[in-house]
Amino acid sequence: MSSELIIYLDGEFVKKSEAKVSVFDHGLLYGDGVFEGIRAYNGKVFRLKEHIDRIFAAAKSILLDIPMSKEELTEVVLETCRQNKLQDAYIRLVITRGVGDLGLSPKNCLKPTVFCIASTISLYPQELYDKGMPIVTATQRRNKATIVDPQIKSLNYLNNILAKIEAHQAGVSEAIMLNHDGVVAECTGDNIFIVKDGVIYTPPIYVGILDGITRLSVIELAKEAGFEVYEKEFTLFNVYNADECFLTGTAAEVIAVTSVDQRIIGDGKPGPITQQLLELFHEHAQNQGMPIYR
Ligand code: PMP
Repeated sequence: MSSELIIYLDGEFVKKSEAKVSVFDHGLLYGDGVFEGIRAYNGKVFRLKEHIDRIFAAAKSILLDIPMSKEELTEVVLETCRQNKLQDAYIRLVITRGVGDLGLSPKNCLKPTVFCIASTISLYPQELYDKGMPIVTATQRRNKATIVDPQIKSLNYLNNILAKIEAHQAGVSEAIMLNHDGVVAECTGDNIFIVKDGVIYTPPIYVGILDGITRLSVIELAKEAGFEVYEKEFTLFNVYNADECFLTGTAAEVIAVTSVDQRIIGDGKPGPITQQLLELFHEHAQNQGMPIYR
């Protein structure tokens, strides 16, 4: 039996080595498309409904008609996990404008390309979860919501990629991105939270961020645990002087930040509220979700 990954591509399940898209696909030529990064834990896909709703909302906003229903797309994700016999997975769902010609216009793109990859992941080394991670602020700004709204998880991630390169050049794994006004927005692939005097703050969606699914889970878990949580604008000054700082994302889950631009956050160790939320999130993720195998 081959251990090659099985990929969903336009209605078929094919081997990874056969999963190819055209060089005329506008997803490739222009970054014209949308995607989702999704996790499965313990045989269940975490918050799949929210991911399906988010990709449909993103597609609607760019006038991209997903050629199937939400139920059918949900089944594509579940079946891709089944085909690969996965219990725990990182899933990438991508919908592009489809194959067209060399012009910008999508008028000749007759059918969106849909593919789904279900694989395994380990994003950051365990040490970073135990000790927390240093991050920096990128000079690259998050794109303005009135130009290309960061709520659209589009195939145009160039500004985030450039910020990620800045992080790596500084010898760290993530970078804070400010919005056009210099207010803290989010990181290249994660949302950001700070804790001050026991109260939790995260930037509001309108500053220009992705409406993160882990972000919302953590807000809900924190409120259930009795914390005050505010969606409020803040600056780097507030980050540098926070008691705790942490990031959330499908891939990263919840991870403590222990220094920002060489300013030590709190006592330089993952804070107690961050650790509590990390545990609550792990427990929640293990027990919630849409079953893959019924
Ligand atoms: N911000 C950006 C820019 C992202 O790309 C992501 C997801 N990769 C996040 C935040 C976190 O969102 P989610 O919790 O939905 O994965």
